Amino acid sequence: MQPNIATLPLCQMASGDRLSLQVYRFVGHHPGKKVYIQSNLHGAEIAGNGVIFDLLTMLQDLETECLRGEIWLVPVCNPLGVNQRSHHFATGRYNPYSGEDWNRIFWDYEQFCPDLKDFAQAHHQDDLDSLQTRYRHRLLDSFAQHHSHCQGSRGAALTDIYRYRLQSLCADADYLLDLHSSSNQALDHLYCGQGRSASAQSFQVAFGIVLDQYDGNALDEAFLKPWVALERELRLLGRSVQFDLESWTLELGSGMATNPQSLSRGYDGILNYLAHKGVLQAPGYPLPPSAEPFPLVRKSQLRRYYAVAGGFLRDRVAVGQAVQVGDPLYTLVTYNKYRTLPATITIESQDVGFVFDCSTNESMNQGEYVLSIAAI
Ligand SMILES: [Zn+2]
Repeated sequence: MQPNIATLPLCQMASGDRLSLQVYRFVGHHPGKKVYIQSNLHGAEIAGNGVIFDLLTMLQDLETECLRGEIWLVPVCNPLGVNQRSHHFATGRYNPYSGEDWNRIFWDYEQFCPDLKDFAQAHHQDDLDSLQTRYRHRLLDSFAQHHSHCQGSRGAALTDIYRYRLQSLCADADYLLDLHSSSNQALDHLYCGQGRSASAQSFQVAFGIVLDQYDGNALDEAFLKPWVALERELRLLGRSVQFDLESWTLELGSGMATNPQSLSRGYDGILNYLAHKGVLQAPGYPLPPSAEPFPLVRKSQLRRYYAVAGGFLRDRVAVGQAVQVGDPLYTLVTYNKYRTLPATITIESQDVGFVFDCSTNESMNQGEYVLSIAAI
């Protein structure tokens, strides 16, 4: 199976060079779901590019009969972020011009759908397929209208141009997978939308975070939120349904690194998920169920620790370590300008859980991020 490859212009730089996106689209012999997979939205989070390369290689060895539906692959989906450097370090989490987080810019239909209650009232007795099709048409129409100003002679902000281009590739998808890594150092994990946790363990990562708190306009949230809102309205009218639409953010290891274990976990997890969904028949998949426990925590259970003083970290707990209240998490060596000797401060855990993310930098100004615990 060979992909259709399309290069889509994104924007022109002052130098005259053009930045583009490249989309690899595999179309199966049988119609079915549309799967959209992108990587590297945050510039330093590169592991997903390796996963997409491995998927591209594998899919070329499969016959079209093995694919039901379509798979769209968009590696290096943020050229501005990917190429951004600060000295030796890749950064690329924020638009350097506006300061916005590249993954908090996306268009969320729920915010532009004032008549959701009326729509639910009018169509709550429709069959599920026509309900989904009708709502999706409304969503796509609203999306097209909202972004039509990008084509006008007044122009549009770069983040608007960018989100329109990216979301126009995936707004009609059924399953959306956004491949990230920690900006720092972390266990492989995922974020899953409300009501979608049943499929989460197919990815066979260390644990999952359920988005019980939306922090706004991330791609996975913007994709699923309008559908969760419709499900909620229908429930109020006495109809309990769940659309077969899912979005996932996979966090594969650490920033600025292509850890082989994270790459193979991402690759295996995606193929296992697609096999379970009936999208793909690939030799060796689905995998046998994992013997490892798969903890699911809520986003509201994540606890971030920040440096209580300026200094340098020592003896910090490792990523993956279980902690109890009172266990030492790290020590800060603090120098001063008061003509006294340096001191140490040891910080103890306030939570029971496990450490899943640690800062790459071990030099701390007061208030800078040190680590995160998933409280269980
Ligand atoms: Zn990210």
